[in-house]
Amino acid sequence: MLATAAVAALGTVWCVLFLTVGAGSEVLAYVFVPAGTALAGVAVHRLAGRDPGLDPVARRFWRTIELAIGVITIGYAWLAADMFAHAAEARTRSMPVPVAACVAAGCVIAVGAFARVPVAPTGGVERWRMALDRTIAFLGCAAVLWYAALAPMLSAREPWSRQATLLVGLLLLAAVAAATKVSYVAGGPVDRAAIRLVAASGGVPAGVVAVLAVRFGYLASVPAQAIVMPLGPVLVALGVAAQRRADPGPRRRPSRSDVLLPYLAVAAVDVPLVAVAFGAPLRWPVRIALIAAVVVTALVTVRQYLAYRENARLLRNTRVQEARLQYEVSHDGLTGLANRALFRERLAAALTGSGRVVVLLVDLDDFKTVNDLLGHGVGDRLLVSVARLLQAEVGYGGLPVRVGGDEFAVLLTGAGPDPEELARRLLAALTHPISEHRLLVQASIGIAVAEPGATADAVLRDADVAMYTAKQQGKADFVRYADGMGEPVLAHMRLGGELRRALDNDEFRVVYQPIVRLAGNALIGVEALVRWQHPTRGLVGPAEFIPAAERTGLIVPLGRFVLRETCRQAAAWLAEFGADALTEAGLNVSARQLHDPDFVSDVAGALAESGLPCERLVLEVTESAVLRGQQVSRALYELDRMGIRLALDDFGTGESSLSLLRAFPAAIVKLDKSFVDGIEIDDGHPGAADARQAVARAVIQLAHALGLDTVAEGVESAEQVTALLDLGYTVGQGFHLGEPMTAADVSRLLARQQPVTPRL
Ligand code: C2E
Ligand code: MG
Ligand code: MG
Repeated sequence: MLATAAVAALGTVWCVLFLTVGAGSEVLAYVFVPAGTALAGVAVHRLAGRDPGLDPVARRFWRTIELAIGVITIGYAWLAADMFAHAAEARTRSMPVPVAACVAAGCVIAVGAFARVPVAPTGGVERWRMALDRTIAFLGCAAVLWYAALAPMLSAREPWSRQATLLVGLLLLAAVAAATKVSYVAGGPVDRAAIRLVAASGGVPAGVVAVLAVRFGYLASVPAQAIVMPLGPVLVALGVAAQRRADPGPRRRPSRSDVLLPYLAVAAVDVPLVAVAFGAPLRWPVRIALIAAVVVTALVTVRQYLAYRENARLLRNTRVQEARLQYEVSHDGLTGLANRALFRERLAAALTGSGRVVVLLVDLDDFKTVNDLLGHGVGDRLLVSVARLLQAEVGYGGLPVRVGGDEFAVLLTGAGPDPEELARRLLAALTHPISEHRLLVQASIGIAVAEPGATADAVLRDADVAMYTAKQQGKADFVRYADGMGEPVLAHMRLGGELRRALDNDEFRVVYQPIVRLAGNALIGVEALVRWQHPTRGLVGPAEFIPAAERTGLIVPLGRFVLRETCRQAAAWLAEFGADALTEAGLNVSARQLHDPDFVSDVAGALAESGLPCERLVLEVTESAVLRGQQVSRALYELDRMGIRLALDDFGTGESSLSLLRAFPAAIVKLDKSFVDGIEIDDGHPGAADARQAVARAVIQLAHALGLDTVAEGVESAEQVTALLDLGYTVGQGFHLGEPMTAADVSRLLARQQPVTPRL
């Protein structure tokens, strides 16, 4: 780069000296060009031959450019030699034919190099569009060149030699072709800047020389060529440097300037038109420029037409896409029914009118079980079947909607079907098994008729309350909203929210009720019972919030808390008071928790974390929880295998207590308080007390026969203790034996009664 710049600088110095003090001979002007091109050739040769990181396409380009420069250098070297040999006649000597041939060949080779550089990757119409743009740009520029440079050269007072004219013309045309092509090269293997610099290396000097020649005459311009021509090699050297620095990143789309190029060309062809309009003579070179202008205009028309067609196509696509998008945002992807958004929109619109507006909210009963037991695939297909059924029943009389999850809705407006009639039809349709899995699924339906002036929110809330009430009343039914129906539902919802907050704020406490040996009152275990330390209501018992926690599913995290806390506390007692201090730490588990697929691992985790031996943990379950199907049964057997003991709580109150004992891996039965109440009364008359005693006796015998431990619950007096001992019970729990107490109180009890006799 420095060497080519030095040659250009020397050329300038010489030219200035020659023109001012007349130093040296004019033939020296011919030396600088071959010197510069030779140096540029070396630079290109080094890049193409030695740069290992060059892309094959780029290498091919630079090799071709190298060849072009080589041929051009030979031409100019020949010219310099010829001029020196005929120094005396230099001024009148025209360019020897071989020189012109060499330089022309060099130009053609260079144009070939440009032609083979790939432009932006495009296809189809885009390709044609680009070809048209390039043709327009080329013709436009060429027409102006012709008009402004070549034609004046040809008709100059002191005409150029044919060869020189041809050469300058070729160089210029090559430069225009390269420039129009180069504008569309969107990065890639051959660096954008490099290819532009190389294109400019031909165009800029040729253009300047042409202008000088036209302005001052060919002969007068010769010394100035020593300044102008060596600029070409400098540009090539700069191009080589740019290619070296290039980062072959992803190809770009053509930039804005490329899009503008055809318009610039159109503006350019107006120049000769304007000139003619203002009185320039209409000679034949001008005619050619005008014909070019007409051709360009025709091409632009074709181009515009193509653009119009393309735009129309794009517009069509956009419309189709818009319609699809509109459909997608307003419909459910799974079932194809209207979605919640469209439902709300239609409901709000209907409420602004004066006609009847009714909403049916349809919620599938126990759909979660289907999902849990049979998988989401089956669940999804079931939802699709329900959607079809809904569509068939509603027909055109209303809008069926999937509100979300397993909740559907129907919006009835105007003179649609009677809502209760429709609800009845839906429930009847659901009494037959549906979907290819022949599943029976039922639904609870809430109906709300909009009051005049009601908002969408109000109608939906009413329908929700009615649906919820239908669920409360035993499911598989419909309920029409009536005033006042919302209170209990809202209270429940509020409680659910409060429980969530209480969990987050650590408001739950665990108290422990002693489990005691009836003979001698020794503490052998505890049952953990949860309490809610409510910020305003004080201590709240489980009866008030466990049902709500079960319904909302919050029992799962709450139960996890009790489990962790109990294991931790029991392990702490064992560590403090010895391994025999407690034989069991029990806690209550809801059916919902047993359904939780993570329950078994939660238990294992709590045991591992606390270090409590698994045989010390007792999980109390009720009969109704045990009879909840496969998943629960599997969990219970797995817990049993882990060595954890399972207790049947409130035993005797259920319908199938006895048969249950065989089907379930229980280790302990807890005789329900209702059989202990009044067990001590022995007034000699057969009656309720006898019946209770009979159950209590049957339970203990059965337990003995099956090798199960027993605990009598709700022992409230010494007399009951005696009666229970008589019947064969050895362990009890109740206010008489110890009320639920804090962990600290249990610690005090344990401290007092050391050492403990082991349980029989
Ligand atoms: P449960 O498992 O049968 O627990 C025994 C209940 O009887 C406790 O009521 C206890 O305070 C009460 N009790 C004990 N001895 C006597 C007595 O001599 N007389 C009377 N009248 N009552 C006695 P609590 O603590 O109110 O718990 C009620 C029920 O709430 C429990 O019955 C259990 O089913 C449930 N529960 C308590 N804590 C939890 C828990 O952490 N998780 C779950 N899932 N349920 C729990
Ligand atoms: Mg219990
Ligand atoms: Mg109980």
